[in-house]
Amino acid sequence: MASGKRSTGLIHHPYKPPGGFEAVAPGVHKASTVIFPNVHALRTFDWKDKSGYTYGLHGTPTTFTLEERIATLDGGRFCVLAPSGLSAMALVDMAFLRTGDELLIPDNGYEPGKSFAAGELAEWGITHRFYDPMDPADLAAKISPATRLVWLEAAGSITLEFPDVPALVAVVKAANQGRERPIVTALDSTWGAGIAYQPFELGVDISLQALTKYASGGADVLMGSIVTRDEALHRAVLLCHMRLGLFIGVNDAELVLRGLHSIELRYQRQDATARELAVWLQGQPGVARVFHPALPGSPGHDTWKRDASAAACLFSAAFEPGISQARIDAFCDALRLFKLGWSWAGPISLCAPYNVPGIRKLGWPHAGGLVRFAAGLEHVEDLRADLAQALPQLQA
Ligand SMILES: *Cc1c(COP(=O)(O)O)cnc(C)c1O
Repeated sequence: MASGKRSTGLIHHPYKPPGGFEAVAPGVHKASTVIFPNVHALRTFDWKDKSGYTYGLHGTPTTFTLEERIATLDGGRFCVLAPSGLSAMALVDMAFLRTGDELLIPDNGYEPGKSFAAGELAEWGITHRFYDPMDPADLAAKISPATRLVWLEAAGSITLEFPDVPALVAVVKAANQGRERPIVTALDSTWGAGIAYQPFELGVDISLQALTKYASGGADVLMGSIVTRDEALHRAVLLCHMRLGLFIGVNDAELVLRGLHSIELRYQRQDATARELAVWLQGQPGVARVFHPALPGSPGHDTWKRDASAAACLFSAAFEPGISQARIDAFCDALRLFKLGWSWAGPISLCAPYNVPGIRKLGWPHAGGLVRFAAGLEHVEDLRADLAQALPQLQA
């Protein structure tokens, strides 16, 4: 047989997916091309309502399964997956903001998300302002006729204030009375991960997660999700997603599907570890204050108690003002189990020093430096011992 003939036979070799094979893990289905049964199907299949597969970019059985599970996790109806948490934030911005609109961002919001507002959005004639997430009256004062989108984040990045989301949403709902284009509320719920609270019970329109964190759990995947209950909002996000040609790799979807099986277990274990370490760290020399929503006195503690049933792996320490940045850096460098790095909720504990006054537009009341910690899956006693052996560096 001529080799060309063999290739045709191989390409058209009949194949049937295994029947009766109900594995625990959903199958990994990859495609750019999806073959239609006939021209009628090609003309009529509509990717938007998931009634048929049309093109890899519009989803495969694997990505549809992940979308449905993330929607379930968040307590929503629809889910759009993006290549990272940050791209999911930009996608929400692009889906709802037009020239002349204004975006409101919490002052303690995820820092890289603000740079899209300051960069592309500003260039497109979309303005943004920052509001104090701990003061609903400040949000009310900053809403204008141009406001179209309000970001929320619970808990806040780095300093972990827990905002009164229902009160902030109530401010937006009041402002929406009689508006032609209602203001959309989007909550970055990466910290809650669908475990600590249910985003839609707090009243928001959209829940965003960096699945990079808890859903993956392995520190080896980047992905974001946008979950909605309202079909019109979902359509707006979905159409923008399609026009931008965004897609997530099916092998990454597989990893996140696997991570989801243990998300609650990991969340609870890291919660317990972080709380124990946060309480212990409070009394240590050189530590002025520890931020963790479960600690009485941490900003938003009462709201956290009312609205959440668990807390993420994060806690931050503000040091005494007399302790230099060089000493704080030496402390971080002396840690052995806590590694220096950004993307938390993986197996390894992390820490990072932050210059909070340098990133807050509305001010920050503490004079000293700050380190944010993320508990991994190590044993809590080992982590406490690691902190204890490094703390003398603060006084050296
Ligand atoms: C990590 C993170 C993001 C961005 O996720 P990436 O996948 O790293 O882009 C967004 N919001 C919060 C709160 C995060 O912690």
